[in-house]
Amino acid sequence: MLDPVAWQGVAQEVSTGALPGWDRVEEIVREAHLRYSSERGGRVADYIPILAEADPELFGLAVIEVGGGLHDAGDAMHAFSIQSISKMFVYALAIQEHGHERVREIVGVNNTGLAFNSVVALELNDGHPMNPMVNAGAIATTGLIPGATPDEQWVCIRDGLSAFAGRPLALDDVVYSSEAATNDRNRAFGRLLRSYGRLDGDPDAVVDVYTRQCALSVTAHDLAVMGATLADGGVNPVTGERVVSEEVCRDTLAVVASTGLYERSGDWLFEIGLPAKSGVAGGIVAIAPGKGAVAGFSPRLDEAGNSVRSQMAIGYLSRALGLNLFASVPARDATGALSAPLEEK
Ligand code: GLU
Repeated sequence: MLDPVAWQGVAQEVSTGALPGWDRVEEIVREAHLRYSSERGGRVADYIPILAEADPELFGLAVIEVGGGLHDAGDAMHAFSIQSISKMFVYALAIQEHGHERVREIVGVNNTGLAFNSVVALELNDGHPMNPMVNAGAIATTGLIPGATPDEQWVCIRDGLSAFAGRPLALDDVVYSSEAATNDRNRAFGRLLRSYGRLDGDPDAVVDVYTRQCALSVTAHDLAVMGATLADGGVNPVTGERVVSEEVCRDTLAVVASTGLYERSGDWLFEIGLPAKSGVAGGIVAIAPGKGAVAGFSPRLDEAGNSVRSQMAIGYLSRALGLNLFASVPARDATGALSAPLEEK
């Protein structure tokens, strides 16, 4: 999926500095959409029954710049459930509330090397969830959200994620009911976490809040605004509202860089060079600190649960827009010459 050959010949901007001008970004986003609309690899998720009904052909892309520039292509306004991508934003809210050290102590920041829903990973680590992007760590993180009751915690999450998106996000009741009826494994995580002293209160109630956060309805456009808020040091570039602190953004992006794409997180960082989080409904958002965010949505997933088209399109955009955090010079072609700017191609 992450074959760098896919972007061979794509001229690369430098990662430092600003994005190309608005018109150029717009052109590159349209090109990315066109390039991958005929890709048909992967399979739509079906372990949450309702997700299997998604139209596999849907494909949306969005780029939001920290300066407020907006770029949408294809089905960027199609609504789907945020799923695991919620983990990144709920984690940011938890650090904002409890601080760097406490959340690190309870949830951890290291990769498990195992699937996002692995019970073995929790057992191998003496009940420590290891990081907030696997289900055990995400449920422990949801348990840290302030609120005297699960309903208050839910409102805190819904309103917090809405502030990231710059509009009120709503629960998709159909997705919520479908997952709530089938989430035995997540409920097992709740019990295990409680037995290891990593979750206070009623574990089923915490898992229910987690299930609701995963069923929040978003679009690729929303995800790009949410990601751009992290890229902008916690200020939503569309509404101007400060949602979390700069330090919280830095902590969140560091964890997401190493854990955001399930067991493919290392491959992703190596090839694309950006922190990103994906979800099983087909969304992915990648964040370029100080520049903006790129979001993709398309329901067909690879074996690890990452949208195939979104990965390819974001890979292309990372290169063409110069977003790779580790690139300090523009790409050179086989002769050693600097790649021609896209305009000259
Ligand atoms: N709600 C899903 C779960 O808990 C999220 C999974 C995902 O997007 O990776 O299994």
